[in-house]
This record gives sequence, C-alpha cells and structure tokens, in this order.
Amino acid sequence: MAPKLWIFILLSIYFIFGFPVISAHRNEDVPSNKIMEDFSGYPVLEPHFQDSLSSLLVDSESLQKQIDELSTFSDTPAPSVTRILYSEKDVLARRFIKNLMGLSGLSVREDAVGNIFGRWDGYEPELAPVSTGSHIDAIPYSGKYDGVVGVLGAIEAINVLKRHGFKPKRSLEVIMFTSEEPTRFGISCLGSRLLAGSGELAELLKRTVDNQNISFLDAARFAGYANHLEDLTSVFLKKGSYSAFIELHIEQGPILEEEATSIGVVTAIAAPASIKVDFEGNGGHAGAVLMPVRNDAGLAAAELALAVEKLCILELHPGAINSIPSKSHLEIDTRDIDEERRNVVIEKIHQSAISISKNRGVKLSEFKIVNQDPPALAEDFITKATESACQELNLTYKKMISRAYHDSLFMARISPMGMIFIPCYKGYSHKPEEFAAIEDIANGIRVLALTLAKLSFS
Ligand SMILES: [Zn+2]
Repeated sequence: MAPKLWIFILLSIYFIFGFPVISAHRNEDVPSNKIMEDFSGYPVLEPHFQDSLSSLLVDSESLQKQIDELSTFSDTPAPSVTRILYSEKDVLARRFIKNLMGLSGLSVREDAVGNIFGRWDGYEPELAPVSTGSHIDAIPYSGKYDGVVGVLGAIEAINVLKRHGFKPKRSLEVIMFTSEEPTRFGISCLGSRLLAGSGELAELLKRTVDNQNISFLDAARFAGYANHLEDLTSVFLKKGSYSAFIELHIEQGPILEEEATSIGVVTAIAAPASIKVDFEGNGGHAGAVLMPVRNDAGLAAAELALAVEKLCILELHPGAINSIPSKSHLEIDTRDIDEERRNVVIEKIHQSAISISKNRGVKLSEFKIVNQDPPALAEDFITKATESACQELNLTYKKMISRAYHDSLFMARISPMGMIFIPCYKGYSHKPEEFAAIEDIANGIRVLALTLAKLSFS
C-alpha cells in the first residue's frame, strides 16, 4: 500500500476513534505504535487517550433490562430459565435478538438451522469480518446469563463503538449460535459445529429425533426455518470466513470472583470426550445371594466411578432395594486441553474397567467412546489484543483456560479464536442462582468492544 494512503488511514483512525486501535496484529505491514506516535506527535498513552477510553460507556441500565426481558422467554417460572431449541419461547427469544440487532443498525441474516448473524459493514467490507457471539438457549431450570451475556453483550459492544463514533475497517459481525446446549437433540454446539463444516452432523440431523419423536427437521420448520433443510451443507462456512472470532462468556467457575479479577483472557478450551460403559452381572435376590458370590454390576460401576472421580452418570438395573444390580450403565466425561493426555486417561479408564470386570466376575459389555472433540487454543494475536484492551481500560485480568466448552471450540476450526471471561457469583451456572453483576458484564463488554476495534484493523 502506498505510504500516503497509510498516512491517510492512520490519521483517520486517530481522529475518528481518538485512541490507537492498532497495537496487536499479525501482519508485518500493519503500522506499530511507534509509527502511530510519529504521526500523532503524542505518546500513545497520553492522558487524553485514557479519557477517550473511559468514554467507552456501556448502557448498563438498558442492558440489564434486556437480560431480564430475555429471561422471561422461558418455559419455567423465574428465576429459573428454560429455553429449548425451536420451542415457542425460543422463537420469541430469537425475534427479540433480531429486533435488537436491527435497532443497532446491523443487517440481519439467518441460515438454515437458525444461526443468526448481524453485520456492521466496515469501510473495507471485502475483508473477512471479525465476529463475536454466543448462544441464548438454556437447559431446563438454568439461569439467565450463560450465553446471553455473549449475545446481548456483543450487540451492546457494537452500540458502544457506534456511540463512540468508531468506524470499523473490517466488518464486525454478531452471531447468535443455534443450540449450544444438547437438551433437545443430544447434540451440543449444534449451530457452530455445522458452521465449522461438520458433514457428519449434516447427515446425522436428517434422521435425528427428540424424545417426543419430533424430527430435527420438523422442529426447525416449526421455528420458521424451512429453507435448505434438505441440504444442511448450506450452513457450512469456509475456513477464513472470519479474520477472528471472540466470545464473551461468564466464567462458570469461581476463580475470577475469588481473586477479584475483572477479566479472564482464555488461552485454550478443554475438549470433552464422553465414554459409555456397560457392565453385566448375574443379578439375583439381595437377601438370598451372599456377598462373596455376587457378581454385582452396580458395584463394578461404583468402583469405576471412584477410580475416575470425574463427572460420571450412573444408572442401575433393576433399581430395586432387594435386587442385586444385574446391569449398570455409566457415562463418563473426561476433558483436557491436551488431547494426547486426555486420550491416555481414556485408555487408563478402559484398563480399570477391564480389571474391575475380572475381579468382580461381571462382563464389560460395552466401552464406547461416544465423542472425542479436539481441544482448541486461542490465537495469540487475539489474546494479545484482549490483554492490551484490559491494560488500556485499567482492568485486572488473568490468563486462564476454559474447562467448559463453548461455540468457540468449533469456531476455532474455521477462524482464529479467543474468549473473554467475566466473573460470576460463586462460579454457579446452569442453575437459577447463576448471576453476574452488571458492572462485571459492562467491563467485559468494554474489553470486547476495544478488542473488536483492534481486530477490525488487524
Ligand atoms: Zn454457554
């Protein structure tokens, strides 16, 4: 690019935005702060830049109202929230989000499964946009902040930048992902998995039904998504569709609150692998069959559960007090940010299951790895942009990993990815007590807004 053009662009950025939006970048050809100082004649952290940053104001009152209103689209009474994919309440909530996107001046589009996109065109709209977003579906009897903060917060981050007079270079896009929670069809991150191009899922959804035997396709039609349902590959996005994706989310853990830290800069997302294990024993009358000669499938499962001591679901058959369990079924969730290490753990669990079944004389009738998603690392230029946003906004932050997984895990397959965490009360999530203070949410939104601004120029 010609030097004169650079000077023009830099001065435009400088005058429009009032602070340096370029400080984290990948490209060698992006000007550095040093050059910025040369042009401006001011050191980049002059006090008036700080003034300018402090005017990145979040409209907390409206935001809290939106969070509260969205929580009323629920199938269970407040304070709990239940919002299941493609239910009536989900459709109303989707309308609410699209309306807010429209009010923020975003152009709204939906794909075949109802991922919702709201775009703010940059002044170089041919460049890959920067995207941000999360989900608004809620598992039964959960809270009103999980996911919601990353959708309403993303729209408010756009509002913040607009009020500030910022003009993005790359377009900025807010995404509301369809069905992050697996409640209805047993598939988590359905929307983002499809966006990331899962051909397997596109096929699977053609024959997926919920527990009422309603097919995925009929449910999608009920919610108004009738187009292109026969070919879900229309949802796929190409790698490189976005220059960056960043998700704002409550931590769902206690660390930030305990340490009184405002922001978590996520460096990696652990990925779960689920395992299904079945033991079969002989059963029998619990009164009549003596302990030493029992082949108790229940105790085999209990022993394996203790050996694993991770999230474990246990089902016994028959579940009567006077019968020895003849069958047991376990579901085990293992996760790690290191895929190899996680797979070693799975192998150890498998070996334990084998030796427990031998010792107890029960049959290990199934040991099946149901899903095994690879973990994802956040991209350096995104975490750096977030870190410098925190510094410029004078907010405390710490680098951390996400143990829970998010749509970001799948977006990482097609785009450089990052996440911003904010504290939440006692780390509670997926229950009505879930709570994040509006001040903490506002901090997260300011960091998100500034990060988006930086990324739009990177
Ligand atoms: Zn979530």
